[in-house]
Amino acid sequence: MTPKLGPRVRIAVITTDLPLIPDTPCYEPSVIDFCNICKKCAYTCPGKAISSNDMIKIKGDLRWQINQEKCYNYWTVCGTDCGRCMAICPFSHPDNFIHNIVRKGIKNSMIFRRFALKMDDFIYGRKPNPKREPDKLNKYLNK
Ligand code: SF4
Ligand code: SF4
Repeated sequence: MTPKLGPRVRIAVITTDLPLIPDTPCYEPSVIDFCNICKKCAYTCPGKAISSNDMIKIKGDLRWQINQEKCYNYWTVCGTDCGRCMAICPFSHPDNFIHNIVRKGIKNSMIFRRFALKMDDFIYGRKPNPKREPDKLNKYLNK
């Protein structure tokens, strides 16, 4: 999760022997607080790969870790990738005037975060219905 682009980032690796100075971890408390009250990705994930519980400590850092196996299993049965977690995330809304004002409010006010989440649920839905699933997928989900 990033404050500006939400979950719409891809992490890549470049192998090099350049002498680089490592960054320190950058925690954005407003995003963590928003995720804590939101959890729309966890409720929407069809593969049940995202935890809706509190963060847990993994390798020294508190995090919500996605269960990659469950996510990938779902993709293989779907026959394509999914990305509903990214599509539903309130941080994924377009980079426009209105949404950027909302982002500012979310960053600066705890009360506004709660209001913004209620508005997001009202306008976009808490858990929108998925598009019709292929029969193969229904068999997998009903196993
Ligand atoms: S949908 Fe986005 S803002 Fe909400 S909990 Fe998931 S990552 Fe956080
Ligand atoms: S891509 Fe789909 S299955 Fe994977 S974590 Fe996101 S919502 Fe869940």
